[in-house]
Amino acid sequence: MFSDRASKIKPSPTLAIDAKAKAMKAEGIDIVNFGVGEPDFDTPDNIKEAAIKAIKDGFTKYTPVGGINPLKDAILEKFRKDNTLNYMRDEIIVSCGAKHSLYNIAQALYSPGDEVLIPSPYWVSYPEQVMLNDAIPVFVETYETDSFKLKPEAIESHITKKTKALILNSPSNPTGLTYNKEDLERIAEVSLRNNIYMISDEIYEKLLYDEVVHFSIASLDNEIKKKAIVVNGLSKSYAMTGWRIGFAAGPKEIIKAMTNIQSQSTSNPTSIAQKAAIEALTGPQDFINIMLAEFDMRRRFLISELNSIPGMSCLTPTGAFYAFPNISKFYGKSFENRKISSSSDLALYLLEKANVALVPGGAFGDDNYIRLSYATSIDEIKKGVSRIREALNRLS
Ligand code: PMP
Repeated sequence: MFSDRASKIKPSPTLAIDAKAKAMKAEGIDIVNFGVGEPDFDTPDNIKEAAIKAIKDGFTKYTPVGGINPLKDAILEKFRKDNTLNYMRDEIIVSCGAKHSLYNIAQALYSPGDEVLIPSPYWVSYPEQVMLNDAIPVFVETYETDSFKLKPEAIESHITKKTKALILNSPSNPTGLTYNKEDLERIAEVSLRNNIYMISDEIYEKLLYDEVVHFSIASLDNEIKKKAIVVNGLSKSYAMTGWRIGFAAGPKEIIKAMTNIQSQSTSNPTSIAQKAAIEALTGPQDFINIMLAEFDMRRRFLISELNSIPGMSCLTPTGAFYAFPNISKFYGKSFENRKISSSSDLALYLLEKANVALVPGGAFGDDNYIRLSYATSIDEIKKGVSRIREALNRLS
Protein backbone atom coordinates (compact mmCIF):
# COMPACT_ATOMS: atom_id res chain seq x y z
CA MET A 1 0.00 0.00 0.00
CA PHE A 2 2.78 2.42 0.93
CA SER A 3 5.98 3.20 -0.97
CA ASP A 4 9.05 0.93 -0.81
CA ARG A 5 10.76 3.85 0.86
CA ALA A 6 8.19 4.07 3.66
CA SER A 7 8.38 0.36 4.32
CA LYS A 8 12.18 0.51 4.67
CA ILE A 9 12.26 3.31 7.21
CA LYS A 10 12.44 2.89 11.00
CA PRO A 11 11.16 5.52 13.43
CA SER A 12 13.88 7.18 15.50
CA PRO A 13 14.63 4.65 18.29
CA THR A 14 15.81 7.36 20.70
CA LEU A 15 12.47 9.12 20.39
CA ALA A 16 10.66 5.75 20.76
CA ILE A 17 12.29 4.95 24.14
CA ASP A 18 11.60 8.48 25.25
CA ALA A 19 7.92 8.04 24.32
CA LYS A 20 7.67 4.76 26.27
CA ALA A 21 9.32 6.32 29.32
CA LYS A 22 6.97 9.30 29.14
CA ALA A 23 3.95 6.99 28.85
CA MET A 24 5.07 5.09 32.00
CA LYS A 25 5.57 8.41 33.75
CA ALA A 26 2.08 9.51 32.76
CA GLU A 27 0.77 6.37 34.47
CA GLY A 28 2.33 7.66 37.66
CA ILE A 29 5.51 5.54 37.58
CA ASP A 30 8.63 7.35 38.82
CA ILE A 31 10.95 6.97 35.82
CA VAL A 32 14.51 8.22 35.69
CA ASN A 33 15.00 9.22 32.07
CA PHE A 34 18.53 8.88 30.67
CA GLY A 35 17.09 8.62 27.17
CA VAL A 36 16.79 12.24 26.15
CA GLY A 37 19.04 13.94 23.62
CA GLU A 38 18.38 17.53 24.63
CA PRO A 39 19.67 19.90 27.31
CA ASP A 40 17.44 20.06 30.39
CA PHE A 41 18.15 23.83 30.55
CA ASP A 42 15.61 26.41 29.46
CA THR A 43 16.33 28.60 26.42
CA PRO A 44 18.00 31.80 27.75
CA ASP A 45 15.67 34.78 28.27
CA ASN A 46 17.46 37.13 25.86
CA ILE A 47 16.76 34.62 23.06
CA LYS A 48 13.12 34.26 24.03
CA GLU A 49 12.78 38.06 24.15
CA ALA A 50 14.11 38.34 20.60
CA ALA A 51 11.42 35.92 19.44
CA ILE A 52 8.69 37.80 21.29
CA LYS A 53 9.89 41.03 19.73
CA ALA A 54 9.82 39.41 16.28
CA ILE A 55 6.18 38.44 16.81
CA LYS A 56 5.24 41.90 18.10
CA ASP A 57 7.03 43.54 15.18
CA GLY A 58 5.04 41.40 12.79
CA PHE A 59 8.07 39.46 11.55
CA THR A 60 5.72 36.57 10.90
CA LYS A 61 5.76 36.08 7.13
CA TYR A 62 7.73 34.01 4.62
CA THR A 63 11.44 34.77 4.53
CA PRO A 64 14.02 33.85 1.89
CA VAL A 65 14.11 30.02 1.72
CA GLY A 66 17.67 29.55 2.98
CA GLY A 67 17.43 32.08 5.81
CA ILE A 68 17.50 35.87 6.23
CA ASN A 69 20.77 37.70 5.52
CA PRO A 70 21.33 39.00 9.08
CA LEU A 71 21.18 35.39 10.33
CA LYS A 72 23.46 34.19 7.54
CA ASP A 73 25.89 36.97 8.52
CA ALA A 74 25.78 35.89 12.17
CA ILE A 75 26.55 32.33 11.04
CA LEU A 76 29.41 33.53 8.80
CA GLU A 77 30.86 35.37 11.79
CA LYS A 78 30.47 32.28 13.97
CA PHE A 79 32.44 30.22 11.43
CA ARG A 80 35.15 32.90 11.26
CA LYS A 81 35.46 33.23 15.00
CA ASP A 82 35.05 29.63 16.15
CA ASN A 83 36.45 27.66 13.22
CA THR A 84 38.70 30.07 11.26
CA LEU A 85 36.47 29.31 8.28
CA ASN A 86 35.61 31.99 5.74
CA TYR A 87 32.40 31.42 3.83
CA MET A 88 30.18 33.69 1.73
CA ARG A 89 26.42 34.05 2.11
CA ASP A 90 25.77 31.78 -0.87
CA GLU A 91 27.74 29.03 0.88
CA ILE A 92 25.31 28.93 3.83
CA ILE A 93 21.82 27.49 4.25
CA VAL A 94 19.63 27.76 7.33
CA SER A 95 17.26 24.80 7.78
CA CYS A 96 14.67 23.52 10.26
CA GLY A 97 17.30 21.93 12.52
CA ALA A 98 20.63 20.27 11.79
CA LYS A 99 18.71 17.09 11.02
CA HIS A 100 16.98 18.94 8.19
CA SER A 101 20.28 20.31 6.88
CA LEU A 102 21.63 16.74 6.85
CA TYR A 103 18.53 15.56 5.04
CA ASN A 104 18.91 18.30 2.43
CA ILE A 105 22.52 17.20 1.91
CA ALA A 106 21.37 13.61 1.39
CA GLN A 107 18.80 14.74 -1.17
CA ALA A 108 21.24 16.99 -2.98
CA LEU A 109 24.19 14.60 -3.07
CA TYR A 110 23.12 10.97 -3.39
CA SER A 111 21.94 9.12 -6.46
CA PRO A 112 20.48 5.60 -6.28
CA GLY A 113 23.20 3.07 -5.48
CA ASP A 114 25.72 5.61 -4.16
CA GLU A 115 27.56 4.40 -1.08
CA VAL A 116 27.98 6.55 2.02
CA LEU A 117 30.52 5.66 4.69
CA ILE A 118 29.17 5.87 8.22
CA PRO A 119 31.52 5.19 11.14
CA SER A 120 29.78 2.90 13.61
CA PRO A 121 28.52 3.46 16.33
CA TYR A 122 26.60 6.24 14.61
CA TRP A 123 23.81 8.70 15.25
CA VAL A 124 20.53 6.98 14.39
CA SER A 125 19.40 9.24 11.54
CA TYR A 126 22.50 8.93 9.33
CA PRO A 127 21.75 5.51 7.78
CA GLU A 128 18.02 6.17 7.56
CA GLN A 129 18.54 9.43 5.69
CA VAL A 130 20.92 7.71 3.28
CA MET A 131 18.36 4.96 2.65
CA LEU A 132 15.50 7.43 2.24
CA ASN A 133 17.45 8.73 -0.74
CA ASP A 134 18.00 5.27 -2.27
CA ALA A 135 21.70 5.30 -1.44
CA ILE A 136 23.50 2.61 0.57
CA PRO A 137 24.91 3.12 4.06
CA VAL A 138 28.28 1.39 4.41
CA PHE A 139 29.22 0.99 8.05
CA VAL A 140 32.85 1.33 9.05
CA GLU A 141 33.34 -0.20 12.45
CA THR A 142 35.29 1.66 15.11
CA TYR A 143 36.47 0.19 18.38
CA GLU A 144 36.44 1.13 22.04
CA THR A 145 40.17 0.28 22.18
CA ASP A 146 40.78 3.12 19.64
CA SER A 147 38.44 5.48 21.56
CA PHE A 148 35.92 4.80 18.76
CA LYS A 149 38.05 6.80 16.33
CA LEU A 150 37.84 6.08 12.65
CA LYS A 151 41.13 4.84 11.24
CA PRO A 152 42.18 5.99 7.74
CA GLU A 153 42.94 2.35 6.77
CA ALA A 154 39.37 1.41 7.65
CA ILE A 155 38.02 4.14 5.36
CA GLU A 156 40.30 3.02 2.58
CA SER A 157 39.24 -0.61 2.82
CA HIS A 158 35.56 0.31 2.44
CA ILE A 159 35.94 2.66 -0.51
CA THR A 160 34.57 1.52 -3.87
CA LYS A 161 33.83 3.30 -7.16
CA LYS A 162 30.38 4.07 -5.74
CA THR A 163 31.56 5.80 -2.57
CA LYS A 164 30.18 9.33 -2.52
CA ALA A 165 30.65 10.63 1.00
CA LEU A 166 31.80 10.03 4.56
CA ILE A 167 29.77 11.26 7.54
CA LEU A 168 31.78 12.46 10.53
CA ASN A 169 30.44 13.47 13.91
CA SER A 170 32.70 15.07 16.51
CA PRO A 171 31.89 15.44 19.38
CA SER A 172 30.02 12.20 18.85
CA ASN A 173 26.56 11.04 19.66
CA PRO A 174 26.51 8.33 21.08
CA THR A 175 30.11 7.89 22.29
CA GLY A 176 30.82 11.45 23.48
CA LEU A 177 34.29 11.23 21.98
CA THR A 178 36.11 13.86 19.96
CA TYR A 179 38.62 13.92 17.10
CA ASN A 180 41.75 16.06 17.27
CA LYS A 181 43.42 17.89 14.41
CA GLU A 182 45.82 15.05 13.58
CA ASP A 183 42.99 12.48 13.43
CA LEU A 184 41.10 14.74 11.03
CA GLU A 185 44.15 15.38 8.86
CA ARG A 186 44.54 11.65 8.29
CA ILE A 187 40.84 11.20 7.52
CA ALA A 188 40.82 14.19 5.16
CA GLU A 189 43.88 12.91 3.30
CA VAL A 190 42.20 9.58 2.45
CA SER A 191 38.88 11.24 1.62
CA LEU A 192 40.46 13.80 -0.67
CA ARG A 193 42.63 11.24 -2.43
CA ASN A 194 39.51 9.19 -3.15
CA ASN A 195 37.47 12.24 -4.10
CA ILE A 196 34.68 11.71 -1.56
CA TYR A 197 32.70 14.38 0.25
CA MET A 198 33.23 14.88 3.97
CA ILE A 199 29.99 15.68 5.77
CA SER A 200 30.92 16.95 9.19
CA ASP A 201 28.19 17.11 11.83
CA GLU A 202 29.49 19.51 14.49
CA ILE A 203 26.27 20.07 16.43
CA TYR A 204 27.97 19.35 19.80
CA GLU A 205 30.88 21.67 19.05
CA LYS A 206 30.40 23.85 22.14
CA LEU A 207 29.98 20.95 24.57
CA LEU A 208 33.59 20.02 25.29
CA TYR A 209 35.40 18.97 28.49
CA ASP A 210 38.92 18.46 29.81
CA GLU A 211 40.25 21.37 27.77
CA VAL A 212 39.56 19.62 24.49
CA VAL A 213 39.50 22.04 21.54
CA HIS A 214 37.06 21.60 18.66
CA PHE A 215 38.47 21.45 15.17
CA SER A 216 36.47 21.54 11.95
CA ILE A 217 37.78 19.29 9.18
CA ALA A 218 36.81 21.96 6.61
CA SER A 219 39.34 24.37 8.10
CA LEU A 220 42.36 22.16 7.36
CA ASP A 221 42.97 23.62 3.90
CA ASN A 222 41.18 24.98 0.85
CA GLU A 223 41.14 21.74 -1.13
CA ILE A 224 39.49 19.96 1.80
CA LYS A 225 37.03 22.82 2.24
CA LYS A 226 35.88 22.29 -1.36
CA LYS A 227 34.87 18.72 -0.50
CA ALA A 228 33.49 19.40 2.98
CA ILE A 229 30.01 20.29 4.15
CA VAL A 230 29.82 21.44 7.75
CA VAL A 231 26.57 21.02 9.66
CA ASN A 232 25.83 22.77 12.91
CA GLY A 233 22.89 24.28 14.76
CA LEU A 234 21.52 25.90 17.86
CA SER A 235 19.65 23.00 19.47
CA LYS A 236 22.35 21.76 21.81
CA SER A 237 24.52 24.86 22.45
CA TYR A 238 21.66 27.21 23.29
CA ALA A 239 19.07 24.71 24.61
CA MET A 240 16.91 25.43 21.56
CA THR A 241 15.85 21.96 20.39
CA GLY A 242 12.22 23.00 19.86
CA TRP A 243 13.03 26.08 17.80
CA ARG A 244 14.30 24.05 14.86
CA ILE A 245 17.24 26.07 13.60
CA GLY A 246 20.24 24.35 12.05
CA PHE A 247 22.58 25.27 9.24
CA ALA A 248 25.11 23.98 6.76
CA ALA A 249 28.11 25.52 5.02
CA GLY A 250 29.79 24.19 1.91
CA PRO A 251 30.53 24.69 -1.79
CA LYS A 252 27.97 27.05 -3.26
CA GLU A 253 26.69 24.60 -5.92
CA ILE A 254 25.72 22.11 -3.21
CA ILE A 255 24.16 24.81 -1.04
CA LYS A 256 22.19 26.00 -4.05
CA ALA A 257 20.87 22.50 -4.72
CA MET A 258 19.97 22.11 -1.03
CA THR A 259 18.17 25.46 -1.10
CA ASN A 260 16.17 24.43 -4.18
CA ILE A 261 15.17 21.22 -2.41
CA GLN A 262 14.22 23.15 0.71
CA SER A 263 12.19 25.57 -1.44
CA GLN A 264 10.01 22.65 -2.59
CA SER A 265 9.65 21.01 0.80
CA THR A 266 9.62 23.12 3.97
CA SER A 267 10.40 26.61 2.59
CA ASN A 268 12.10 28.86 5.13
CA PRO A 269 12.71 27.92 8.77
CA THR A 270 10.30 29.79 11.07
CA SER A 271 10.76 33.56 10.76
CA ILE A 272 10.50 34.04 14.53
CA ALA A 273 13.05 31.33 15.31
CA GLN A 274 15.46 32.94 12.84
CA LYS A 275 15.32 36.23 14.79
CA ALA A 276 15.89 34.30 18.02
CA ALA A 277 18.86 32.56 16.38
CA ILE A 278 20.52 35.90 15.58
CA GLU A 279 20.28 36.82 19.25
CA ALA A 280 21.64 33.41 20.29
CA LEU A 281 24.70 33.76 18.04
CA THR A 282 25.45 37.45 18.58
CA GLY A 283 24.18 38.06 22.14
CA PRO A 284 25.88 37.15 25.46
CA GLN A 285 27.44 33.69 25.44
CA ASP A 286 27.85 33.11 29.21
CA PHE A 287 24.88 30.70 29.24
CA ILE A 288 26.98 28.08 27.47
CA ASN A 289 29.67 28.03 30.14
CA ILE A 290 27.11 27.82 32.93
CA MET A 291 25.43 24.85 31.26
CA LEU A 292 28.78 23.27 30.46
CA ALA A 293 30.03 23.49 34.06
CA GLU A 294 26.90 21.65 35.18
CA PHE A 295 27.26 18.99 32.47
CA ASP A 296 30.90 18.52 33.41
CA MET A 297 30.05 17.93 37.07
CA ARG A 298 27.40 15.38 36.11
CA ARG A 299 29.75 13.71 33.62
CA ARG A 300 32.46 13.17 36.23
CA PHE A 301 29.96 11.76 38.71
CA LEU A 302 28.17 9.50 36.22
CA ILE A 303 31.30 8.04 34.61
CA SER A 304 32.93 7.25 37.92
CA GLU A 305 29.71 5.63 39.21
CA LEU A 306 29.24 3.55 36.05
CA ASN A 307 32.81 2.31 36.25
CA SER A 308 32.28 1.27 39.85
CA ILE A 309 29.44 -1.11 38.89
CA PRO A 310 30.94 -4.62 38.67
CA GLY A 311 30.88 -5.78 35.04
CA MET A 312 30.39 -2.35 33.50
CA SER A 313 33.09 -0.20 31.89
CA CYS A 314 32.83 3.24 30.35
CA LEU A 315 35.34 5.45 28.54
CA THR A 316 35.40 9.08 29.68
CA PRO A 317 33.57 11.18 27.10
CA THR A 318 35.24 14.46 26.11
CA GLY A 319 32.23 16.07 24.47
CA ALA A 320 28.41 16.12 24.09
CA PHE A 321 26.32 14.81 27.02
CA TYR A 322 26.32 11.05 26.65
CA ALA A 323 27.94 8.11 28.42
CA PHE A 324 28.34 4.92 26.37
CA PRO A 325 29.25 2.08 28.73
CA ASN A 326 30.11 -1.45 27.62
CA ILE A 327 27.58 -3.87 29.05
CA SER A 328 28.57 -7.06 27.21
CA LYS A 329 29.70 -8.76 30.45
CA PHE A 330 26.04 -9.01 31.46
CA TYR A 331 25.11 -11.07 28.43
CA GLY A 332 24.06 -14.59 29.33
CA LYS A 333 22.97 -13.53 32.81
CA SER A 334 19.34 -13.68 33.89
CA PHE A 335 16.75 -12.62 36.43
CA GLU A 336 13.53 -14.57 37.09
CA ASN A 337 14.09 -16.69 33.97
CA ARG A 338 14.59 -13.58 31.90
CA LYS A 339 17.85 -13.90 30.00
CA ILE A 340 19.78 -10.83 28.87
CA SER A 341 21.33 -11.35 25.46
CA SER A 342 21.22 -7.95 23.79
CA SER A 343 21.35 -4.25 24.55
CA SER A 344 17.57 -4.07 23.98
CA ASP A 345 17.02 -6.87 26.52
CA LEU A 346 19.06 -4.91 29.03
CA ALA A 347 17.36 -1.57 28.26
CA LEU A 348 13.93 -3.16 28.59
CA TYR A 349 14.91 -4.95 31.81
CA LEU A 350 16.15 -1.65 33.29
CA LEU A 351 13.03 0.20 32.17
CA GLU A 352 10.59 -2.36 33.54
CA LYS A 353 12.40 -3.58 36.65
CA ALA A 354 14.39 -0.50 37.67
CA ASN A 355 12.27 2.23 36.09
CA VAL A 356 15.28 3.68 34.30
CA ALA A 357 15.04 4.68 30.64
CA LEU A 358 18.10 4.59 28.40
CA VAL A 359 18.84 3.73 24.79
CA PRO A 360 20.17 0.31 23.70
CA GLY A 361 23.45 0.51 21.79
CA GLY A 362 21.96 -1.62 19.01
CA ALA A 363 20.11 1.52 17.90
CA PHE A 364 23.51 3.10 17.18
CA GLY A 365 24.92 0.02 15.50
CA ASP A 366 26.77 -1.57 18.44
CA ASP A 367 24.96 -4.03 20.62
CA ASN A 368 27.63 -4.21 23.32
CA TYR A 369 26.72 -0.80 24.74
CA ILE A 370 23.93 1.34 26.14
CA ARG A 371 23.67 5.12 25.93
CA LEU A 372 22.84 7.33 28.89
CA SER A 373 22.26 11.04 28.49
CA TYR A 374 23.37 13.15 31.44
CA ALA A 375 21.26 16.10 30.32
CA THR A 376 19.19 15.52 33.44
CA SER A 377 19.57 16.76 37.04
CA ILE A 378 22.28 15.40 39.33
CA ASP A 379 19.62 14.15 41.75
CA GLU A 380 18.00 12.13 38.99
CA ILE A 381 21.42 10.83 37.93
CA LYS A 382 22.17 9.70 41.50
CA LYS A 383 18.81 7.97 41.81
CA GLY A 384 19.07 6.39 38.36
CA VAL A 385 22.60 5.04 38.83
CA SER A 386 21.76 3.45 42.13
CA ARG A 387 18.73 1.78 40.54
CA ILE A 388 20.90 0.49 37.69
CA ARG A 389 23.49 -0.82 40.14
CA GLU A 390 20.87 -2.71 42.14
CA ALA A 391 19.12 -4.12 39.09
CA LEU A 392 22.39 -5.34 37.56
CA ASN A 393 23.41 -6.91 40.87
CA ARG A 394 20.22 -8.94 40.77
CA LEU A 395 21.29 -10.62 37.51
CA SER A 396 23.02 -13.97 37.92
N1 PMP B 1 23.26 15.46 14.81
C1 PMP B 1 23.41 14.78 15.96
C2 PMP B 1 24.64 13.97 16.14
C3 PMP B 1 22.42 14.84 16.95
O1 PMP B 1 22.58 14.16 18.09
C4 PMP B 1 21.27 15.62 16.71
C5 PMP B 1 20.14 15.71 17.73
N2 PMP B 1 19.87 14.57 18.45
C6 PMP B 1 21.16 16.29 15.50
C7 PMP B 1 22.17 16.20 14.57
C8 PMP B 1 19.93 17.09 15.12
O2 PMP B 1 19.80 18.27 15.82
P1 PMP B 1 18.67 19.33 15.42
O3 PMP B 1 17.83 19.49 16.63
O4 PMP B 1 19.42 20.59 15.10
O5 PMP B 1 17.92 18.83 14.25
